Amino acid sequence: MPIYTAPTKDMQFVLQEVLDVTGSGIAGYEELDAEFTSAVLEEAGKLASEVLAPLNASGDREGCTLENGVVRTPKGFKDAYEQMKAGGWMGLDCDPEYGGQGMPYVLATAVGETFVSANMAFNMYQGLTHGAYSAIHAHGSDLQKTTYLPKMVEGSWTGTMNLTEPHCGTDLGLMRTKADPQDDGSYKISGQKIFISAGEHDLSDNIIHLVLAKAPGGGEGTKGISLFIVPKFLVNEDGSLGARNGVTVGNIEEKMGIHANSTCVMNYNDATGYLIGDLHKGMRAMFTMMNEARIGVGLQGYAQAEAAYQNAVAYANDRLQGRDVTGVKNPDGPADPLIVHPDIRRSLMDQKSFVEGARAFTFWGANLIDRAHRNGDKEAEGLISLMTPVIKGFQTDKGFEMAVQAQQVYGGHGYIEEHGMSQFARDARITQIYEGANGVQALDLVGRKLAADGGKHVMAFFDMVKTFIKDNEGNAALKADFLDPLKAASKDLQAAGMYFMQNGMKNPNNALAGSYDFMHMFGHVCLGLMWGRMAVAAQAALDAGAADEAFYKTKLATGRYYMARHLPATGMHLARINSGADTVMALAANEF
Ligand SMILES: Cc1cc2nc3c(=O)[nH]c(=O)nc-3n(C[C@H](O)[C@H](O)[C@H](O)COP(=O)(O)OP(=O)(O)OC[C@H]3O[C@@H](n4cnc5c(N)ncnc54)[C@H](O)[C@@H]3O)c2cc1C
Repeated sequence: MPIYTAPTKDMQFVLQEVLDVTGSGIAGYEELDAEFTSAVLEEAGKLASEVLAPLNASGDREGCTLENGVVRTPKGFKDAYEQMKAGGWMGLDCDPEYGGQGMPYVLATAVGETFVSANMAFNMYQGLTHGAYSAIHAHGSDLQKTTYLPKMVEGSWTGTMNLTEPHCGTDLGLMRTKADPQDDGSYKISGQKIFISAGEHDLSDNIIHLVLAKAPGGGEGTKGISLFIVPKFLVNEDGSLGARNGVTVGNIEEKMGIHANSTCVMNYNDATGYLIGDLHKGMRAMFTMMNEARIGVGLQGYAQAEAAYQNAVAYANDRLQGRDVTGVKNPDGPADPLIVHPDIRRSLMDQKSFVEGARAFTFWGANLIDRAHRNGDKEAEGLISLMTPVIKGFQTDKGFEMAVQAQQVYGGHGYIEEHGMSQFARDARITQIYEGANGVQALDLVGRKLAADGGKHVMAFFDMVKTFIKDNEGNAALKADFLDPLKAASKDLQAAGMYFMQNGMKNPNNALAGSYDFMHMFGHVCLGLMWGRMAVAAQAALDAGAADEAFYKTKLATGRYYMARHLPATGMHLARINSGADTVMALAANEF
């Protein structure tokens, strides 16, 4: 069975030494000292490794089942869910007014990583609930908040998001689900949604579906879409559960991974729905949920790579094959362990340097969200909006790639199911697709986010990189290995932005054909910045004579690898972008 241990030391390094959470002046962060965050992460890590991880492979094998309209989750899930509820984990960063603990989002993000690494399919039940909570919290009426949020915060009721229909996933303007207004102010919702994660299951007493539908008078396209709360069981005035609503599960999908999470066809037949937010402004309200979910999916990407990496390291130390070409390392054995071979080292360094960089990037993103929400910081809001498609798109592409690399360390034993390595790759694969496929994330980045507010946010990002390099230029130990490569990669990124400005207006295909490369370049520069910041923190700890010298030296060595072996990819991406759309669009559709 695969192993998993929460990387609490590395999380603490990012929180305390890189982000300096207690010193950052964000409301609520003063509580996040090393002692407190360590206690929370240790407890979460225990739940992750002792309760959730042991159910990962069995949940994958067993999957969910649908019988007579009832979806059953795999054995052990209900108990694990009750433990999660009892521990108050679901409301960690939720509003105390509705029973939450009011902790910063950055802490919930760190905790969430351990749960996702341990069992991604399981954690989706609560992840979607959190997203629905956030949308109701941001856009719901007072009555809606008091009716639904306390139960969702404690986990007795779960949530879903219903966008996708058989004929539309990306292009939601094509949506057909209808909302008919009723005299009492409610709506009757009719239509079919597909691929709805956690749409039906046996973990909670009620399921609160957030459903996009078209109400009369909104016009064509996405403008006519509104958002509705459609509970599985209607809720009586006293808060008790009433009649079953007109929403049923039609089927659950057979799929490549996340077998233990039910992916449902949901049929709405005159189901009672309640408008949330403004009529015909549903996309705006749903984006609250989708933006949060996109960062959560970016986290899923590297969290799967982390779990896969831990197993690959153990296997590489254990499996004996071949001899070290520079001298035998295991003279008493028939062969040396895999880890002596440079190509295995390359793979493990790829995985380790990506995961640690992505962790820092994601925690920083969560930190920006806290800054925006708790301190009303508009610059932070602009930056996280710019970087959301990067966190989602880049980290899930790389997360899948690294899960496959970890599988490769096992050779044929990674391909068969016995060791669980195939599951990490299969589960990670969906992260590249849902919450907006990665190609669409790249379009969002280049088509909307770059130019948003006159390009102010991307300029703020470049300034931040420049200031970081300038502030640390005197640090001789870091200049050649960290600062110079970051400067070069950032220049490549700026040059790509310039290419879009100069050529995108002439022919928009020039920008769109380069958007995917741009998303990856941006991801590398962000991870390069993170590695720069981590190197500064690690070097400072070593200079101050920190007790755990090995940890900081390992950190610096891992960072040097990322800067030397990954960051130069920006040059390749820039060359592709500069080649424009001509070669991409050279063939007519009928020539493929
Ligand atoms: C396991 C699973 C769970 C899911 N959970 C949920 C859920 O809980 N709720 C929910 O509402 N949905 C859910 N989805 C749906 C998911 O979000 C969609 O599948 C996804 O957004 C893509 O939509 P689509 O499948 O219709 O693909 P399409 O929109 O048909 O896109 C197909 C391909 O074309 C590309 N493409 C589309 N338009 C453009 C364009 N303009 N330019 C360039 N490329 C383009 C896309 O990137 C993609 O690669 C889930 C899907 C799966 C498989």
